Amino acid sequence: MTDRYASFVQSAAGRALVKRLGLPDPPRLRRHHPGDPLLAGPALLGAATGGRLAEPITKILTAAGVELADPTGANPQRYGALLFDATGITDSTELRQLYDFFHPQARAVLPSGRVIVLGTPPQECPTPREATAQRALEGLVRSIGKEFGRGTTAQLVYVTRGDGAAAGGPDLSADTHTGLASTVRFILSGRSAYVSGQVIRVGGGAASAPADWDRPLDGQVVLVTGAARGIGAALAKVLARDGAQVVALDIPAAGDALAAVANDIGGTAVQLDLTAPDAPTRLAEHLASRHGRVDVVVHNAGITRDKTLGRMDADRWDQVIDVNLSSQERINDVLLERELIPAGGRIISVSSIAGIAGNRGQTNYATSKAGVIGLVDSLAPALRDRGISVNAVAPGFIETRLTARIPLVVREAGRRMNSLAQGGLPVDVAETIGWLAWPASGAVSGNVVRVCGQSLLGA
Ligand code: NAD
Repeated sequence: MTDRYASFVQSAAGRALVKRLGLPDPPRLRRHHPGDPLLAGPALLGAATGGRLAEPITKILTAAGVELADPTGANPQRYGALLFDATGITDSTELRQLYDFFHPQARAVLPSGRVIVLGTPPQECPTPREATAQRALEGLVRSIGKEFGRGTTAQLVYVTRGDGAAAGGPDLSADTHTGLASTVRFILSGRSAYVSGQVIRVGGGAASAPADWDRPLDGQVVLVTGAARGIGAALAKVLARDGAQVVALDIPAAGDALAAVANDIGGTAVQLDLTAPDAPTRLAEHLASRHGRVDVVVHNAGITRDKTLGRMDADRWDQVIDVNLSSQERINDVLLERELIPAGGRIISVSSIAGIAGNRGQTNYATSKAGVIGLVDSLAPALRDRGISVNAVAPGFIETRLTARIPLVVREAGRRMNSLAQGGLPVDVAETIGWLAWPASGAVSGNVVRVCGQSLLGA
């Protein structure tokens, strides 16, 4: 589905009209193409006094080929990204350092620029004052996401302290360093085009850097459910592009479309209704016999059966909960029980902002999608010792058949009510799931990352 308004505002006539009438102005977003540099311009790196991440972040940026701007700002220029290590802030009175860094540069960020603030998780802070100041970072980042415009996004990354930090040892373990590298690379790149205003936690969990960051999923066996169309089809493509062997699953009725997706990417197709009583065992047997394991499980299949609660028959309720939530639990249970997901494995579910904000006419859907967040919250700590990460993405308004069916006025509102004034594309959800799937992202677990252009819903 195309956003005709967004195309129109890119034309000369469109630009004039948008300016004159003060209409929404969706920018053209920078998206990832293999081989692209991470940024369109140099990165300016700043740090609060006493910060602990300046050295690792400099190493990470240099290794990623990012040009670092003169930190004194003596040669004013336009920046591809502004990064600020705020881990040194231990009291609210020190928050002024954020203003001092960002204020002079607020208009110096290139289109589709990136802002990253690094902090310490408040619950790890030794004093209430430090925890308070670190929690305050969220307000700054979310506001920058709404203010800077022209496709610029802003994220807060909380980085756990290294195990040795209390004993005066390293502040960052090797795994967390790798997880920070994978997260920063994802955020800076065009892969994160439609992700903004997010708080991402990095820490714990084993991670290994890839031999080639352009093929971060090399050799990984990845299962994608609901792969015949929409977000699932985009996912299969992105994961295969990044080096994965993709097992694409969908219902038998979608067999032709599924086969086309699988053939296109050199993957394999599995026709299976996830709600069938024997689906988990059949799937486990297929994965065991063909691959001996599954490194990454992406629970993407989902359905809607909308009605207000008073008009909803029990079938609509049951089907939605079963496809969107219970079937995921049953499959996880069998794959984990049979130890088919090895150490370093990933479980990634697709939730929705409806599961965060709720939605009229979607009590069944919102319940199932909030349940997916509960699954992440409960399973991530339980599987940490097995080296398996569990995360979810929560898409907002994504241009698919699902959203094409929404009545025009509601659809237009859904598209524009976010910081980027446009809907996202299936590839935006796919790229975010791809990053969570990378072996390098093992230190990212228990997160729910919204892919919603910083939607006003549930914010
Ligand atoms: P879609 O309807 O285009 O695709 C869903 C796929 O899942 C279909 O191919 C379908 O056949 C498959 N599927 C459904 N039931 C199945 C079952 N029992 N067994 C196996 N496969 C089954 O939807 P989409 O827009 O691509 O959405 C993908 C996911 O993203 C869903 O979980 C959806 O809830 C979520 N999501 C989408 C949006 C959006 O704006 N499109 C927003 C938030 C969340």
